[in-house]
Amino acid sequence: MPILPVQLAGFLFERIFQMPKTPATRFADPGLALYDLATYFWVHCPKCDGRATVNNAESNHRLTCTQCHHLEMPGHWHGSATIYVSVKCRECHAPIRKSAAWEQPWTKLKVKCEKCGDECSYEGSVSKSYVHQGLLTDSVYGLPLWLQTNLKEDLFWAFNPDHLELLRQYVAAKHRERGIAPRNTIRKNSALLSRLPAFITKASNREPILKLIDKLLQK
Ligand SMILES: [Zn+2]
Ligand SMILES: [Zn+2]
Repeated sequence: MPILPVQLAGFLFERIFQMPKTPATRFADPGLALYDLATYFWVHCPKCDGRATVNNAESNHRLTCTQCHHLEMPGHWHGSATIYVSVKCRECHAPIRKSAAWEQPWTKLKVKCEKCGDECSYEGSVSKSYVHQGLLTDSVYGLPLWLQTNLKEDLFWAFNPDHLELLRQYVAAKHRERGIAPRNTIRKNSALLSRLPAFITKASNREPILKLIDKLLQK
């Protein structure tokens, strides 16, 4: 049975907010996957650039801005996307391949056959990119995540404050334990934490990252 978003939220709440029970220098991996944390996103509002929230529940992907009260439903992709066509020419059957920046909402791309010169619009497939102008975006609207900043060459980011808090606890801890509790046999190693980029787990980056997280929390 799929886990419902509400149950997930409860699960997250328990896992994250019960953590202070463990000493602050220890971090017990709550066994989460990145997907578990993506229940909502904090993004830059497309109207005022203020902070907006994107709900990521299956039935409701509404965007609401806390600053200008802009409300948006999914439909327009604000990020980058590419449209690909890979067909055989309708006239001479020569293979045709072309890609271009996607101009929404069109799903067709006009292509000229190099062999016979025939011009035709072919149905293409659109591939959305979750990186736009060097920044990571949410997966519903393609808007830049609110909680992101560079540490030298590396991009540090979080979907939302819960995600950021989890990262903060992880980075702050001197000892990191895997698995939630001895009895937990299902999700011992968190995919989220075992796949963190090296710059986050590096001991020498602990202080700079904690400072950076404090800054993000005040943003
Ligand atoms: Zn706004
Ligand atoms: Zn042709």
